[in-house]
Amino acid sequence: MSKVYNFSAGPAMLPVEVMKKCQEEFLNYNGLGVSIIEMSHRSKDYMEVANQAVADLRDLLKLPDNYKVLFMHGGGRGMFANIAMNLAQPNGCADYLVGGAWAGYAAAEGKKYTNVNEIKIDSVNDKNLVTINTKNLPLNKDAQYVHVCLNETIHGIEIFDDINTNNVPLIADASSNILSRPLDVTKYGIVYAGAQKNIGPSGFAIAIVREDLIGHALPFCPSVYDFKVTYEHDSMFNTPNTFAWYLSGLVFKWIKDFGGLEAMEARNKEKADYLYGFIDSCDFYSNNVDKSCRSRMNVPFFLKNSDLNQEFLDKAKEAGLCNLKGHRVLGGMRASIYNAMPIEGVKALVEFMDKFAKEHK
Ligand SMILES: *Cc1c(COP(=O)(O)O)cnc(C)c1O
Repeated sequence: MSKVYNFSAGPAMLPVEVMKKCQEEFLNYNGLGVSIIEMSHRSKDYMEVANQAVADLRDLLKLPDNYKVLFMHGGGRGMFANIAMNLAQPNGCADYLVGGAWAGYAAAEGKKYTNVNEIKIDSVNDKNLVTINTKNLPLNKDAQYVHVCLNETIHGIEIFDDINTNNVPLIADASSNILSRPLDVTKYGIVYAGAQKNIGPSGFAIAIVREDLIGHALPFCPSVYDFKVTYEHDSMFNTPNTFAWYLSGLVFKWIKDFGGLEAMEARNKEKADYLYGFIDSCDFYSNNVDKSCRSRMNVPFFLKNSDLNQEFLDKAKEAGLCNLKGHRVLGGMRASIYNAMPIEGVKALVEFMDKFAKEHK
């Protein structure tokens, strides 16, 4: 197989070591003669896999005992509904900080269950760059929760600042930057993520929930989405996605072997700095996000001459650089460089971009 670097925004590339391990043991897990996806989730062998995955995730994020790890169904958007169904109160309200597409989608889902206050946090500064403000927000003191998206996958905006919500639980969608850097979860009531960007297969979601936020689901909340039911059954009220759980566990182990979240952050910073550094140095390309909130995971960029977009994509593909087309909301290009992308992939992309720019001067 020729070498390809996959810049897909999601489902995204996974570490090659993880994929190889999964392949090696797929038909015959641990000498049992059956696949990991063919065994009972309650069997001793599977329980070991399941418990180890939770323990490794807890360890990576240094979770205190009062934060519970729940594995949920329905991916990121499933969690948009789950958050509201588990935290909203009849006639209550919630604040949604909106600074990009995903935060807006979360707010729209929240509206089905509660009164949503949308608070705009993005704006364009005098240099025509997108900036984010998370200070002195007009928060509602009666809100049941405040929702924020920590990394806007489409717009390439990441929030690095702490947000003060005056003790109203802050709920973070970290679907596209979870485990990319250390995160102090104690600043949040819940941190959740769809798995398919930095963790594992799609359709699966991880919710790290502070204990006191468990047990408030609205009466109509389906049992499989109720945090309390999920917690009381160790995320096995119904049959979980055993394969996704297993594969996520391999990824957690990979991150630990890599040196944990500090080491991962250093690698991600190096990749992002390299790519943005090149984009800023070359007038052929541009990125329109202020340095203070540029995403380390998703790098949207534009060619000065958008007539060259298709040729850029075709030539990139020939060079083994795949899935660089930007989201239809923004156009242009987007390179997603999650944990699994090696620095070599980013260097290959920059080398290609440089060559393409010189050929089209
Ligand atoms: C991808 C993504 C989602 C949606 O995930 P699905 O699993 O497709 O529902 C939600 N939020 C963010 C920030 C995302 O990047």
